[in-house]
Amino acid sequence: MKGGNKMSDYDAKYIEEKFIQYAKMNTRSNENSKAVPTTPGQVVLLKELANEIKKLGLTDVSYSDKDAYVVGKIPANSDKKVAAIGFVAHVDTADFNAENIQPQIHENYDGKDIDLGHVVTLSAKEFPSLKKVIGQTLITASGDTLLGADDKAGIAGLLGMAKYLHENPAVKHGDIWLAFGPDEEIGMGAARFDVSRFPVEFAYTLDNGNPGDIAYETFNAAAAKITFRGTVVHPGEAYGLMVNAALMANEFIDGLPQDFVPEKSKDYQGYILVLNNNGNVDHAEINLIIRDFDTDHYLKMKKLVKDLAEKLNEKYGANRVNLEMHDQYRSPGDLIKNNPYVVNLVHHAYAKMGLPVHHIPFRGGTDGDFISEKGIPTPNLFNGGANFHGRYEYVTVENMLLLAKTLTAIATTHLEMDGNRDETPLKR
Ligand SMILES: [Zn+2]
Repeated sequence: MKGGNKMSDYDAKYIEEKFIQYAKMNTRSNENSKAVPTTPGQVVLLKELANEIKKLGLTDVSYSDKDAYVVGKIPANSDKKVAAIGFVAHVDTADFNAENIQPQIHENYDGKDIDLGHVVTLSAKEFPSLKKVIGQTLITASGDTLLGADDKAGIAGLLGMAKYLHENPAVKHGDIWLAFGPDEEIGMGAARFDVSRFPVEFAYTLDNGNPGDIAYETFNAAAAKITFRGTVVHPGEAYGLMVNAALMANEFIDGLPQDFVPEKSKDYQGYILVLNNNGNVDHAEINLIIRDFDTDHYLKMKKLVKDLAEKLNEKYGANRVNLEMHDQYRSPGDLIKNNPYVVNLVHHAYAKMGLPVHHIPFRGGTDGDFISEKGIPTPNLFNGGANFHGRYEYVTVENMLLLAKTLTAIATTHLEMDGNRDETPLKR
């Protein structure tokens, strides 16, 4: 704010321009790279963001080569001391063409099909969610690339909030930390995040989702490799001697719960997925993954896999079956259920914004899983885009603006409520 007490409005043009500028930058991550971050394009955007947030008055802005995160603080401007909160967005884009991204702006979208170019049509019939954005300023890619609204819409919304707070010191809040990180799409970024650089009590990711969504339960996830060692003997003389590894592997699979599979799983249900089953008489190998929202049931499924391997070892002799199993990520659900204010605060802020609340079971891993595991409860909110990870991706300026306003509402509501927190237990 430049003199006087007049409030500045949110800068929709700024949000739009920042989104377009960042969308054009190729920040696709690469799971085969050992570099941190995995691709140099991400560093370019991260350093650009560090400069941008300095311009918006953030303090303690830093980039670390070790975790490739940019962090910075919107300093508290209130006499009331409240716990610091954080917001997190990722700079990388999914495993899809990101060369020469040409965002297309469709002002006052009319609800009709859009010819994206490259003989690709964004069909209003095929994607009924487009109905919700009629009349808005719609941004798409040009048919041959993704757009990268995942998660550059989250970044643009965050910057929109930061600019608004910078220009309106009359809007009071506590310390708000922002973090921009790499390599979310390949599940490597947040695992490396040194959260001593991010001194907040709790945080939110802004990764996909629709306005009003909040996801605080994701899968608990494990992966297992089971190998089977057979005994090869000439079949004519195999009586009592041959042990067939391929058949042992089949026996193992038969022992798994037959209805606990992805094709019969939705909402808050989990599954065990047998990824492959390769075998011959001499040797067989199974790879599987376990996914489960419910931690007790997740541990039960891990035990079942372990018991099955042990049972076969008892039956066929020790050391024929070898199990290697490890946790891939854990749902932040348990941690967040013990800190219900983190979700209830969002309920209050959404209510102020007129957004109906949807608790979403997030059927995959997120940065929030890793950050929560490091002790900072971190649910996911939304970024306002749709059709992520491909050529049909889109976002609207209005939704990014809504995100910016919602983030401000969370910060101001927190200032009001901290000290008298709503700790109502969470319900799905
Ligand atoms: Zn994402």
